[in-house]
Amino acid sequence: MTIQGLLLDLDDTLVDHRGAAERGLRTWLTGLGLAETAVELEDHVERWFALEARHYERAQRRELTHTEQRRVRIREFLPGWDLADDTLADDVFAGFLGCYQAAWRAFDDAAEAIERALGSGLRVGILTNGVLEIQTEKLRRTGLLRADVPVFASSELPAAKPDRRSYLTACSGLGVAPDATLMVGDSLRHDVVGAHAAGLSALLLDRLGWYDATRAGVRVDTVRGLAELSLAAALHQRY
Ligand SMILES: [Mg+2]
Repeated sequence: MTIQGLLLDLDDTLVDHRGAAERGLRTWLTGLGLAETAVELEDHVERWFALEARHYERAQRRELTHTEQRRVRIREFLPGWDLADDTLADDVFAGFLGCYQAAWRAFDDAAEAIERALGSGLRVGILTNGVLEIQTEKLRRTGLLRADVPVFASSELPAAKPDRRSYLTACSGLGVAPDATLMVGDSLRHDVVGAHAAGLSALLLDRLGWYDATRAGVRVDTVRGLAELSLAAALHQRY
């Protein structure tokens, strides 16, 4: 079966989420007087991402709502602050959010990769773990939102990645069979292992060349950038 459909992850695949969160944190924490030194900032950034990984994932498993995971994160991130009141916790999180959103940027190769895939006759969709309104706004502000590329966000799906239902619902929305669909993203677990288990082909986007198959114990096909996808699409290569 040749590849007829392409599903792209959003965060850290099309849009530089990590970079935006780091830049946003720097602005926000400096404003609060909490990042006086580079070491202090680095420590905060590390803690921020550890909390995000833990609690955002819990929200994807539907153990918490999206708003609840934000409250838990901000309370754990600022343990000395009295953020028991939900409105207050939401207000403080909103301070970060504004800085994060202002720092949203698409990767340089994102728009062109989508354009090229559509031009080569593939159906293209975006499959992301997140809230549809937020992810749509992220795509709009970074210039990637298009009418011919549907967005499949986990808030509207039966489950989030890596649950097989997320990939299968997206394939059905695209109108392409799972075994004719290629999933591409930066997460080994969400974009490759989960996609393979659901019967899709998959490629790991490894922009920094950090993927170590020996350490991960899984051998997967990787690309260093979205520009490499053109070759894959042109050849209708099966991964
Ligand atoms: Mg991602």
